[in-house]
Amino acid sequence: MTDHTHADTLRTPIVAVLGHVDHGKTSLLDTIRGSAVSEGEAGAITQHIGATDIPLDTISGMAGELIDPSDFDLPGLLFIDTPGHHSFSTLRARGGALADIAVLVVDVNDGFQPQTEEAIDILRRTGTPFVVAANKVDTTPGWNPQDGDPIQKSMDAQSERAKSMLDENLYEIIGQLSDAGFSADLYWRVQDFQKNIGVVPLSALTGEGVPDLLTVLMGLSQRFMKEEMAIDVTGPGEGTVLEVKDERGFGATVDTVVYDGVIRNGDTVVVGGQDEPIVTEIRALLRPRPLAEIRTEKEFEKVGEVGAAAGVKIAAPDLDQAMAGAPVRVVRDRTVDQVVDEVKAELAEIEVETADNGVVVKADTLGSLEAMANALREAEVPILRAEVGDIAPRDIAVAETANQDEHKAILGFNVDLLQNAESDLENADVKLFKNEVIYQLVEDYERYVEEKQRAQQ
Ligand code: GDP
Repeated sequence: MTDHTHADTLRTPIVAVLGHVDHGKTSLLDTIRGSAVSEGEAGAITQHIGATDIPLDTISGMAGELIDPSDFDLPGLLFIDTPGHHSFSTLRARGGALADIAVLVVDVNDGFQPQTEEAIDILRRTGTPFVVAANKVDTTPGWNPQDGDPIQKSMDAQSERAKSMLDENLYEIIGQLSDAGFSADLYWRVQDFQKNIGVVPLSALTGEGVPDLLTVLMGLSQRFMKEEMAIDVTGPGEGTVLEVKDERGFGATVDTVVYDGVIRNGDTVVVGGQDEPIVTEIRALLRPRPLAEIRTEKEFEKVGEVGAAAGVKIAAPDLDQAMAGAPVRVVRDRTVDQVVDEVKAELAEIEVETADNGVVVKADTLGSLEAMANALREAEVPILRAEVGDIAPRDIAVAETANQDEHKAILGFNVDLLQNAESDLENADVKLFKNEVIYQLVEDYERYVEEKQRAQQ
């Protein structure tokens, strides 16, 4: 869709981290950020909103002999800071996933768990290339860190190490991937990372194996995603809203990942809103201040422009109604109406079908709302209203209008009950279900309906 009239440049691939709860997603992201910072090179890490940028230089500094930077022309890797398949499947770019690649974290002692399976399904459905991080190897019996520095290892050392690591747990993960329809192997045996899923044994705790993971991700992107990374760096910026946040002095702002073109201060942008697309003018583009200052100085740094791929906070009037997961488009070389139509078309793909009766659904992003709607459709639960945002008094009022007792319910996915709605809920004949796992939310609701029906018999 982008008109590549200007010289194309390669942007940074966007990486998401997925996996079952407690398998180490947050720790892995922290370690990647931490080691990039301690690498200490100039420009080792750029501060972002909602994402962490690890430049190629830093990766090669961490990875030592594992990587020859001259083999690469992609600039590095941009990790989305919010882990979980929730943030993966619900954050889109032009109808596809916002993330270009994924890391599936699996606790090497725990193996596949329900959310691992869910994540795999999502990755398969979206055709997203991924790498498995077999995490917590420091706790694996038979794991011997004395086997050698993984960064400096030679081919011989690799096979030595393989023997000690190829314990049952790793084999089991490879087997489980195979059951799920993916041919997989330990990463140093994989030639073609598109055909075979590379499994990288690592420890988010000790950092061992993390450079290997970054190297594999870099190689995968360079070999298989180079064409998708070609963008017109001066083209009108396109991004996805991660979060809508009130910021003192700025009012409502949107944390955004820019995945194409450039966004400049003063640009007119169209942002997906709860009712209509919002047309507004950027007052400020904000980045966190450099790390050292962050503790003392909470202020953001204003920047003139942000090019893809990067995270940035956009401050502009009228963003209160903006929706997480919605598109952000710069109006340049086109009319406002054209861009508004584009945003509408993109949002229409995520339209949720509602009925005259049913439950009220609230979710934190558009994509998660869609995922909720799909799950409810499969469970044959009609939806009265579906919206992005926290649970407000209005939602309780709407839920009360449902004309069947068992439908007077609000299903909140990854959202909070607003304080001013608490007493309304107490006084209303409305049941609230909240969960951060979709299938559990639907199950809780179904169980409630069943019990209610049983009680009535
Ligand atoms: P998440 O829910 O997937 O984000 O998991 P967390 O990153 O919060 O990790 C869950 C728990 O596992 C925490 O107590 C971590 O300290 C621990 N953990 C994570 N990675 C490792 C690892 O490599 N080794 C060990 N021993 N513990 C880990």
